Amino acid sequence: MSELNERDHRRIGKDLDLFTFSELVGPGLPLWTPRGTIVRQELDAFVWELRSKYGYQKVTIPHLTRRALYETSGHWEKFGDDLFRIVSREGKDFAVKPMNCPHHTQIFARHPHSYREMPQRYAETTMVYRDEQSGELGGLTRVLSITQDDSHVFCRMGQVKQEFLQIWDIVDTFWGAFGFKLRARLSFHDPKTPEKYLGTAEIWKNAETALREMAEERGADFFEAPGEAALYGPKLDFMATDSIGRTHQVATIQLDFNLPERFDLSCVNEKGEKERIVMIHSAITGSIERASAVLLE
Ligand code: ZN
Repeated sequence: MSELNERDHRRIGKDLDLFTFSELVGPGLPLWTPRGTIVRQELDAFVWELRSKYGYQKVTIPHLTRRALYETSGHWEKFGDDLFRIVSREGKDFAVKPMNCPHHTQIFARHPHSYREMPQRYAETTMVYRDEQSGELGGLTRVLSITQDDSHVFCRMGQVKQEFLQIWDIVDTFWGAFGFKLRARLSFHDPKTPEKYLGTAEIWKNAETALREMAEERGADFFEAPGEAALYGPKLDFMATDSIGRTHQVATIQLDFNLPERFDLSCVNEKGEKERIVMIHSAITGSIERASAVLLE
């Protein structure tokens, strides 16, 4: 048996009885066994142990939303065919969440926040669903149901750096515990295709410059990748190299100036004025499915 085959997480997962697939449930929809569920819970408990030291609080959201939420966020238009859409019996449009950020903004927006309450740090480990083409599915690395250890920090501009560096420390501690030394990829937008992104050229420039400065100051091992940004902002993606030299994107930290604009998120500053805030999205495992595949292999 070749080393690639021997280390294939699909084979190891079956041998160790961690997860299975069912024709009736469908490809790309892994079913986790009792043993596999213990592994998932342990990974998530480790992430939570690290996050809880930095003032994160758990939140819980439903897996559905009205169309209006994604029209406001821009996902209805920009997420395109990857969005699972549902029509209710009354003919109303709903979607199954492909990410958690828009829901989390509505928890933040439930009441006005004083600058004294900032940052607000929400964390939730939950599944999101993306309609990948079935030809692309295989094992745990391409799935329709993805478990993110997701978090959103709502903070002031002046707090971005500290929050970012704290998450970076969590990423290093988590992956370092498994012997990984991660390379950082600065995932920037492609200025040639502005229609693929939300927000102005100036917003993008400021955000990308801030990320580059942070990576330089930290002395991180990093490289830049134009065209790899999220639709709402640039990302810091972390790449793990596995035992046979393949690289996988695992953790991610994302700076977002756009969703706070679209959802009109603010705090009341020292002068009693409304001040626009920013969001930081992050996932430490990346997804539990992908982290499991990388760790198994
Ligand atoms: Zn998010």
